[in-house]
Amino acid sequence: MSTVVKKASSIKTVNPFNNETVKEFDVMSNEQVDQIIGRADQAFKSWKKTSFEKRAQVLHKVASILRTKKEELGKLATLEMGKLLKESIYEVELCANIFDYYADNGAKFLADHPLDTAHGKAFLAYEPIGVLLSVQPWNFPFYQITRSAAPNIMAGNTMVLKHASNVPQCAQIMEDIFLEAGAPKGVYTNLFIPGRDVERLVADPRIAAVSLTGSEPAGASIASAAGSKVKKSTLELGGSDPFIIMEDADLDDAAKTTVYGRMWNAGQVCVSPKRVILPESKKAEFLDKVKAIFGTLKVGDPLEADTDVAPLSSEKAAEDVAAQVAKAAEQGANVVIGGHRIDRAGAFLEPTLITDITPKMDAYFEEIFGPVYMLHTYKNVDEAIEIANATEFGLGGSVFGKDTDKAVEIARQIDTGMVYINHVTGIAPELPFGGTKNSGYGREQSPAGIYEFVNAKLIRVTDSKALY
Ligand code: NAP
Repeated sequence: MSTVVKKASSIKTVNPFNNETVKEFDVMSNEQVDQIIGRADQAFKSWKKTSFEKRAQVLHKVASILRTKKEELGKLATLEMGKLLKESIYEVELCANIFDYYADNGAKFLADHPLDTAHGKAFLAYEPIGVLLSVQPWNFPFYQITRSAAPNIMAGNTMVLKHASNVPQCAQIMEDIFLEAGAPKGVYTNLFIPGRDVERLVADPRIAAVSLTGSEPAGASIASAAGSKVKKSTLELGGSDPFIIMEDADLDDAAKTTVYGRMWNAGQVCVSPKRVILPESKKAEFLDKVKAIFGTLKVGDPLEADTDVAPLSSEKAAEDVAAQVAKAAEQGANVVIGGHRIDRAGAFLEPTLITDITPKMDAYFEEIFGPVYMLHTYKNVDEAIEIANATEFGLGGSVFGKDTDKAVEIARQIDTGMVYINHVTGIAPELPFGGTKNSGYGREQSPAGIYEFVNAKLIRVTDSKALY
């Protein structure tokens, strides 16, 4: 039964399993937002002077609270955006690992870096730059905020978060967790504002920089707002990852890896294997295997342990993906399985398998953010690489086969920020995440993630006579 707690606004929890509104939040007034940014700015003045030890203590505590509350938080993510509970709980554990990673390694990454120079001594001092605005999407409601918060709070920046409007409770609880972990007020704060208000915030002189994960239009708008004020931005945008299956690949393994990889989070993953690229000679055999796995997929309640495919994040998301599939069919693609909404309450779409996609169709180039498996075939490796690189995106990708030296050679020719051999594009705290082309710029996670929003300041010490 739905319980409306506050008056209608655009920020609300709608459970995609049944499309019932669970809770609504008021959008913050400009005055409230102004106060929050002011507090974050004040907090920066002292947070930047705290020791790495103190910051690490807070981050470790955040990690420990996340682990203790993983069931509760997992249920919240599932309630708000529909993903399988087991995936939500895994996500919370991953976040705890990312917080621990930066708590354990941040001081080492940001230690003064000596430089070779002809005279005297020189080094880089990594200094925090101020209040960061972090704009994040709903598809991994805890992970997306973690990978921007953990390195930056460790580096001494403070952060205001504008999360996606459909995951307000996940957004708010993260602020609560920071406070419970001992972070001073203002170090990490949630903002309840709609996406259209973000540009105004980017212009605020107290905001030092902005980081956005989301769609290309949102990224372009934020990057241009930041550029016009000479502020740094990082963008993690969409992707349409190729997954190249080599001639020598085990087809059973390849079928399992690609189907489960594609159905993960109901296909709403920026680095999902969205375009599987297979030797033409293997098509019939491989399709039989893929179809057999599709036949076993259980679509349903994301809270149930044996569900394989969850609803999409919202009614609109399900409608949009169904429309993309319908358009592909209209343009001549072969929808082998699925393609339709499921006749039940909730944002459900049938797991879908499409073949025979040509460059004349939109589906050949665009990102489909749902449980849609697209199979392409190739005659030789050059053609496989050409198909892999045929989109404007450049996020992740995979090469799957036994000859891993050959796979690495192919990986080098794929125009993306990440290529995994024998695995779908994955996530680990110590490995960088990010793309090229229209998938954005900048990196999160790994040592690279902590250098995005610090001032690498040169300090050079010489004898004054060196100038003459
Ligand atoms: P979206 O519409 O761009 O939303 C993402 C965030 O940006 C939300 O907080 C949204 O707020 C805000 N936003 C929307 N329009 C904005 C604007 N004009 N100016 C400033 N902020 C704005 O993205 P989505 O469709 O929900 O998310 C899916 C996309 O994100 C996919 O393309 C996916 O591939 C990509 N993604 C990329 C990565 C990566 O790491 N590269 C990871 C996850 C997802 P509201 O909710 O209030 O509109």
